[in-house]
Amino acid sequence: MARRITVFGATGSIGCNTLDLIARQPEAFEVVALTGGSNVARLAEQARAVGAELAVTAHDDRLGDLRAALAGSGIEAAAGRAALLEAAARPADWIMSAIVGAAGLEPGLEALKQGTTLALANKESLVTAGPLMLATARAHGARILPVDSEHSAVFQALVGEDVAAVERVIITASGGAFRDWPAERLARATPREAARHPNWDMGQRITIDSASLFNKALELIETREFFGIDPHKIDALVHPESLIHAMVGFADGALMAHIGPPDMRHAIGFALNWPERRALPVERLDFAAIGQLTFRAPDDARYPALRLARGVMETRGLSGAVFNGAKERALDHFIAGRIGFVQMAELVERVLNTMTSQRLGIAAPDLDMVRDADARARSEADAALAHLTS
Ligand code: NDP
Repeated sequence: MARRITVFGATGSIGCNTLDLIARQPEAFEVVALTGGSNVARLAEQARAVGAELAVTAHDDRLGDLRAALAGSGIEAAAGRAALLEAAARPADWIMSAIVGAAGLEPGLEALKQGTTLALANKESLVTAGPLMLATARAHGARILPVDSEHSAVFQALVGEDVAAVERVIITASGGAFRDWPAERLARATPREAARHPNWDMGQRITIDSASLFNKALELIETREFFGIDPHKIDALVHPESLIHAMVGFADGALMAHIGPPDMRHAIGFALNWPERRALPVERLDFAAIGQLTFRAPDDARYPALRLARGVMETRGLSGAVFNGAKERALDHFIAGRIGFVQMAELVERVLNTMTSQRLGIAAPDLDMVRDADARARSEADAALAHLTS
């Protein structure tokens, strides 16, 4: 029987890769809903191609365009936050969460409430509300499968293992666009330069986050939340070839490394076919041709995002929501040319320092608390702009 599937963030990098895999097995899947943001032309084209029941744009003012683009197709069109949540509540066997940023949290939570399998690419969900996501999944018998390549790698290395026997988890980082730049040049880096990734083809925001290692910082926090592993056991390692995605070390000294080509269709396909493994259209690695794999320790002075993430992993509670909200605003300001590349971390640190007095370490925050912490972090980030060193 065909599995019913919904894709949030269908028009983005992860969404397009997901639809590429779905299109290769059309008889296996029935597409319930696709969602997007401003790219309604692509959304309509995708919905027509897979025969979706429903297409939703996040923006109310784009509903007219979406309707026009779907005219005559019989596909329902809807817009706005409530429509996104309704799409999440439509019965489906498998839902991809690939909206970028904190906006992905609520649709993911809504999907978990219907007891589905949630393929989680949106890393901000676990960073901002890890305990809430996991508790919601437990309460409704839903399952979360990681899609981020590092977490998919850890998940695969842990099959059949006892987490209590894990001694360390190493997640790798390509080092991003500036890994070979001298530190003093970073202050002048432009958004266009930061958005050119050496190995992966991803959306603009995550690519810039890779250059600053904020992406890796989010992944450290996500690893701690998803697998429940002690933060002291989790580390990042720069591995420029991006072939090993993560390594898990066990009490007996053994280390399981997950190796695969830098192609997101691997991790997406693993989650799509889980618990089976099926053939995927990804490159097969030729190690004799690759020759060598290299590694270096990340430089904390150059990448303050990792140090900040360590604090968040210790504090937990609302600190992830504050970290992410401030990071998202810092990224907006960098893309808009209001601050420099290295000032993003400075801004986030200022917000975390300003808000530490506000009981961020609360044990089990609910959605309203998370939303409130996120909103306050964003406005603190805007207010802190004036205090940055030029
Ligand atoms: P993209 O920017 O390529 O795509 C984002 C998607 O979200 C698009 O469909 C976009 O719509 C939609 N969107 C944007 N803003 C909103 C909003 N406010 N409300 C609803 N929908 C919105 O991102 P990626 O695909 O690169 O990343 C998606 C998520 O997956 C991120 O959390 C990222 O960190 C994570 N991830 C991505 C990886 C990758 O390889 N790209 C790897 C691992 C994780 P539109 O474009 O139509 O405006």
